[in-house]
This record gives sequence, structure tokens and C-alpha cells, in this order.
Amino acid sequence: MPDPTIREPAFTLTSGPVDAYPAVLRGLSRTIHYDFDPFFQAFYEQVTDKARTAMRLSTPPVILHGEPVLGLEAAAASLIAREDVVLNLASGVYGKGFGFWAKRYCAELVEIEVPYNEAIDPDAVARMLQARPEIRIVSVCHHDTPSGTINPVEAIGRIVREHGTWLIVDAVSSFGGMDVHPEACCADIFVTGPNKCLGGAPGLSLLGVSDRAWAKMKANPDAPRASMLSLLDWEHAWKRDQPFPFTPSVAEVNGLDAALDQYLAEGPEAVWARHALTARACRAGLQAMGLALWPAREAIASPTTTAVRVPDGVADEALRRTARERYGVAFSSGRGETLGKLVRIGHMGPTAQPLYAVVAISALGGALGTLGHAVDIGRGVAAAMEAIDAG
Ligand SMILES: *Cc1c(COP(=O)(O)O)cnc(C)c1O
Repeated sequence: MPDPTIREPAFTLTSGPVDAYPAVLRGLSRTIHYDFDPFFQAFYEQVTDKARTAMRLSTPPVILHGEPVLGLEAAAASLIAREDVVLNLASGVYGKGFGFWAKRYCAELVEIEVPYNEAIDPDAVARMLQARPEIRIVSVCHHDTPSGTINPVEAIGRIVREHGTWLIVDAVSSFGGMDVHPEACCADIFVTGPNKCLGGAPGLSLLGVSDRAWAKMKANPDAPRASMLSLLDWEHAWKRDQPFPFTPSVAEVNGLDAALDQYLAEGPEAVWARHALTARACRAGLQAMGLALWPAREAIASPTTTAVRVPDGVADEALRRTARERYGVAFSSGRGETLGKLVRIGHMGPTAQPLYAVVAISALGGALGTLGHAVDIGRGVAAAMEAIDAG
């Protein structure tokens, strides 16, 4: 029995996992086929090909069967060899966190770290690669979700590729919500998943892997095999005549298929446009209510999550609890270093609908008023509507 004192949220405006699309829920309820049945093997090949199309890849992506942290850890374990020097770019909690995995596998970890409301400067990456030519791998988080900030991965990717190093990109919370693709940012391993902007369920990782990444992994004696962290084990699993190394998460693959159909049928450009418009409406409304965005500049603010500073004298936990209890709206907190300093409004997948900006602004404004920090909700809503109507 669920606890009767805890009501379900009416609006889950979090930055992932997100409330899945209804079509994904129907997908998740499809038949659980035996993984070695020819029907499922052919289906798996088709789903991989849909993911390839969505990711604009020339080679099939790898599906790993755990939420995207598995994909990130597998990328570190498989690509990094013990003699490698790794440059980790940290502009937030996820970027920093990747360094802890990288450290486990590499000879030396070098970092460029910027304040967690800032973005990485590609020129700093170029300078570091010149100063330390022995760097073999660079890792970067595209959208550092706990900060709501975006890093310039295409510019970074060009620099890294020119230098001949390998690039790992965490695009978990940006892919599907904006124009970012593995080959466009020269990623050698590009990690994403269904549970953010694709509006799917948490439980799978999607990885775009370049030919040169496969070559490096095959030459890496430390790359795991017979392990859930092994990318090499899954290289050929997409082919219908190849066995799976372990049982795939059949229900999750059913859900992914529906999420990819939804994305491709609506059209990626249209999906990105509603993410961007929802974000613009949120930013306009929050600022019109006198609140400050967390990102140092609007130019680096994410189109898939809006992070807003918690005003001085307001407790972030009380703010989210009031929004949740009074209005039924669930927001995300910060994490790690950003915990307590900001509240995040997610607009990902089905919640990337511009009018949800009005829901978010009203609930946040109402909760702030309850906690003694009155704001002009009417101005916030009017500014959000103006942004929406301007398109
Ligand atoms: C969500 C997310 C992940 C996956 O981690 P969770 O355990 O689902 O929080 C990894 N990287 C980024 C940038 C994410 O937003």
C-alpha cells in the first residue's frame, strides 16, 4: 500500500527521470519476449537502427542495460588504459564526477575546473592540450544538469580531434532536447539515455562509439570483458544472428522503441524547438518575478533544465516541499555543490511544453510567497506568456 499521507505529484517538472510519454508507457507494457527468440533478435536490431537514425550515426550505437551511469562508467573502464593521461573538464557535479571514474583507470588525471555556474572555454582546452601533449583522452559533460549549464562541445570536439586525442561526451540530459549528435561534436564515446529528453524510462544507456574508439578499446588489455562494464562484449549484439552477452532489459527496450518512434515521428527539430521555447518562457518568467538564474549568462543556460537561484533567506528544501504539497508540483534540487543554492525546473520530453513554464512559475512564486518572500506572480506569468506568444 502506498503511504496515504504522501500524494502523487500532479506535475513532475524535474530534470530526470521524467514522466514518460503515454506512448512509452504503452511500449513498456508490450510482451516480454525471450531474448533468443528470432522475433526479439530482429526487433533489437531494428531498435538499434532507430537509435542510430536518431543519433545521426553512421555506425550502430551500443545499448547497455542500466541507466546512463552504467554507460559512463563503461566508457571510462573500456576506453582508458592504465598508461593514459586523461583531461577531465569539470563545470559541474557530473563533469567532476566523471573524473572519479577516470582516476580509477588512468595513469594521471588532469582537470580544468570552472565555477559551477560557468562553462568550459574551448581555448583553455587547446592551451592545455598544447602544454600537455601526452593527454590521450578528454572527457566533458555537455549539459551539467545540477547547474543547468551547457558546454560548447562542438568547439571542444574539433580541438580534441585536431590533437588526435579521444573524446568522451556525457550528453545524457541534452541529447533529444537540443541539436547535439556524436559525430557533430567528434565524440568517440557519446553517452545518453532514454530517461531525460527522450521522455522514456530510466534503465538503459545509449552509446555512440567511433571506429577509433573501438580500435583503442580492442588494443586496451584492461578493457573489461564478461562484465556489465564491457562495451566490447556488446559490439555485435545488435545483429540478429549474434547472441547477447547477458540478458537485455526486454521491457526497457520495448519502451525505448516507443520513445524513439515518438521522437522521430514528431521530428527532432520540432522537439528541440519546444524544449527551447519552454526554457525561454521559464527564464523570462523567473526574471520578471525578480529571481536570478543560476547560469552566469543566458547564453549558457540549458534548453532542457532551468536552474534558478534560491533567494537569500529561503530554505531550498522548504521551497520545494511547499511547491510539492500545496500545488502538487515536483521540482529538482541542486546536487553536491549546488545543493541548497538552486531549484531546477526540468523541461524534458513530455514536460517540454511551453505552458508548463506557467505552471512552474506559479508554483514557485506561490511557494516563495508562503515562505515570506513575496514575488509578483502576475508579472512572471505575463512575461512567460509573452515569450511563448513570441514563439
Ligand atoms: C541524469 C544524468 C546522468 C545519469 O545519472 P542519474 O543517476 O540518472 O542521475 C548522467 N549524466 C548527466 C549529465 C545526467 O543528467
